[in-house]
Amino acid sequence: MKAVQAYRFALDLTPGQERTASAHAGAVRVAHNWALARVKAVMDQRAAERTYGIADADLTPAIGWSLPSLRKAWNAAKGEVAPWWREYSKEAFNTGLDALARALRNWSDSRTGRRAGRPVGFPRFKSRRRSTPSVRFTTGAIRVEVDRKHVVLPRLGRLKLHESARKLARRLDNGTGRIMSATVRRDAGRWHVAFCVEVDRADRRPARPASVVGVDVGVRHLAVLSTGELVPNPRHLDAAQRRLRTLARRMSRRQGPDRRTGQRPSNRWRVAQTQLGRAHARVAHLRRDGLHKLTTRLAREHGTLVVEDLNVAGMLRNRRLARHIADAGFGELRRQLAYKTEWNGGQLIVADRWYPSSKTCSACGAVKTKLALTERTFTCTICGLILDRDLNAARNLAALAALAAEVDPAGSGPVAGRGADRKTPLAGPVAVKRQPGTATTDQTGTVPPQGGTTNHVLTKAH
Ligand SMILES: [Zn+2]
Repeated sequence: MKAVQAYRFALDLTPGQERTASAHAGAVRVAHNWALARVKAVMDQRAAERTYGIADADLTPAIGWSLPSLRKAWNAAKGEVAPWWREYSKEAFNTGLDALARALRNWSDSRTGRRAGRPVGFPRFKSRRRSTPSVRFTTGAIRVEVDRKHVVLPRLGRLKLHESARKLARRLDNGTGRIMSATVRRDAGRWHVAFCVEVDRADRRPARPASVVGVDVGVRHLAVLSTGELVPNPRHLDAAQRRLRTLARRMSRRQGPDRRTGQRPSNRWRVAQTQLGRAHARVAHLRRDGLHKLTTRLAREHGTLVVEDLNVAGMLRNRRLARHIADAGFGELRRQLAYKTEWNGGQLIVADRWYPSSKTCSACGAVKTKLALTERTFTCTICGLILDRDLNAARNLAALAALAAEVDPAGSGPVAGRGADRKTPLAGPVAVKRQPGTATTDQTGTVPPQGGTTNHVLTKAH
């Protein structure tokens, strides 16, 4: 199976190499900002001309927004705009122009309704302070050295890796991997290189193909499996919270920048800012590590995994839950399960957002009308079942898989990533496969519970 995979390594750069990398990131911004200014100027000019009643055909010609046309415009102007352009890889300018072409396309698609999700704003100028320094190489000499501790990139030359690249090197050596691009970027004060690699993955089967496991993500535990296993919340953020608080306080006591008075930040403030950034980065790394370990284990072992389609964006708007949810990384968990089940030959079933997994009795199927967030134990008034709330929900999710298999017995193949997940509708006699993009009301005619989205999601956000 062909898959595109990223291999990311921390770099140990010499001061000279850091300067070259930063300078290339600067070249990215120059090309991006020049092209954006050009696009804006032409748009404004045309708008002004229209107000004078000039016919559309006589307006200043529009400038193309695609990458090739932006590149053509840049190449015509670079001698004047950036007479130093020969000192930099053309890939740097290309990175900036490509980012702009994508941003413009996203903006126009969003405006015309061709792009789902939140509205996309018009591209902004890249600032040296706000943007992350980054440059992407797609052509030229990109390789891993024989010692597997160094990589060679165009213009930047031979760079030392902080760790061994053996996993990537093995793929390159036996011909199952092909590097498509290499991106050098600075995250939280540290330079990294990320290789985008087309990988030919061996076909895999899960260890227990017939096993069906419901995964309920919660705040108290990272996940509760229908097998009864409780995966503890790593709570790395909680553990690091004290240090974050200390550092944030330290930063607030020092002289920061002030736009209105033109106050420049003090050097001590900059030091504190770097420390805080590193502490945040460490939390993020620990969290990602915990999630990857869990999702890899689940996808390798079980044939079918069932998760809820939680409205993460909606839940993050609830401030009290937000920190915990962000900490546990719900959305990330589901994203990882989607591609890892595909890689391992299993399948992921995503239960509809309105499926009452917490309120249904996993023994007799009775659905409660109300279940407060504080009720940690599920007690069925019909059959007398007493079970942990999250475990009950996980069992309901696992039962959904059987329902989906009855309706669509052939559909047990791997499920593609986002958007192609199999969705199961509301609790109903028959599970109907929904096409992405259709209304929440399914063909069984069940209407999602009334009330605000946030409210309902809250009842599921335990
Ligand atoms: Zn019951």
